[in-house]
Amino acid sequence: MLYMRQLFYAILFLCLGFGVAGQALSALQFVTKNKTAMKSDEEKTNETWKKMLTPKQYYILREKGTEAPYSGELLMQKDEGLYRCVACGNELFSSEAKFDSHCGWPSFDKEIKAGKITIAADTSLGMQRTEIMCANCGGHLGHLFTDGPTNTGMRYCVNSVSLTFEPKNNEMLDTLVLGAGCFWCVEAFFQRLKGVVSVSSGYAGGEVENPSYEQVCSGTTGHAEVIRIAYNPAIITMETLLEVFFEMHDPTTVNRQGNDVGTQYRSVIFYKNDEEKKVAEQIIAAYTLQQKFDRLIVTTLEPFVLFYKAEDYHQNYYNENGNQPYCKLIIMPKLRKFEKLFADDIN
Ligand SMILES: [Zn+2]
Repeated sequence: MLYMRQLFYAILFLCLGFGVAGQALSALQFVTKNKTAMKSDEEKTNETWKKMLTPKQYYILREKGTEAPYSGELLMQKDEGLYRCVACGNELFSSEAKFDSHCGWPSFDKEIKAGKITIAADTSLGMQRTEIMCANCGGHLGHLFTDGPTNTGMRYCVNSVSLTFEPKNNEMLDTLVLGAGCFWCVEAFFQRLKGVVSVSSGYAGGEVENPSYEQVCSGTTGHAEVIRIAYNPAIITMETLLEVFFEMHDPTTVNRQGNDVGTQYRSVIFYKNDEEKKVAEQIIAAYTLQQKFDRLIVTTLEPFVLFYKAEDYHQNYYNENGNQPYCKLIIMPKLRKFEKLFADDIN
């Protein structure tokens, strides 16, 4: 708590513009990051998996454990949707393939597409069984039996813990990860837009796994403070989200937003694919042509790798702490500007 309070006043102090005269310009030099490609899921070490998975998930997926029968959350799941590998998101089964096998574990009669699951002989526990694994990350799923009651004759007997269920939803959501300085502010704007389903504050773009706020604030992790926006593209487009992004922060200062200085405050758009990269490049080109800003846009475009959700007390920060001086003095005036500029896009 003490740390938080100190940090809070430190940020307030900086944001109010005191005591920064000594900031050396050299601290603003853009650090060209030596991006390493994300390790493929197959290459991840046990240490990495341990950090990414809960102990129970690790036990089942990486140590080939088995959950107690009739204990899994997805055993009785009967809704339409998709079952993915909980470790890597690989699509594994459709709800159409699920049947009630009365064996105590979620059961399916076929994989969603050939090649999604790999098999191996398993002679543990003195039995001859066929192990099934996620073809993408090698995570243990369960076992395959040939006593299935449907026309495939197969029973994919899967640990509920190895799966995550995605209900069928006509609202196909997309996500966008953006860095525009202190995430407390940025989150508050995007939460208010029509078509935005949720906004999470977190960290992305660095090399440190599961970073803490303290680590990110130190400016040495390579991570930026970011928000992840889940939105419905049928209601709001990526272009509109980027318009808000460019309007509500200063994209012309390298590794800096106002008095917040450091690579963690860099202006950055994380793209998941070429299409998103192109949308971002086009909007930057258009603003440059229009000379929308007095100076050059220095926003970086970085390939999206992983989003680490920030600690709970950073989530929904403005809405829950609106009476605090930082929110009143710093965020509220910006929010008023935002509400004026984007009146038509606000809920
Ligand atoms: Zn997987």
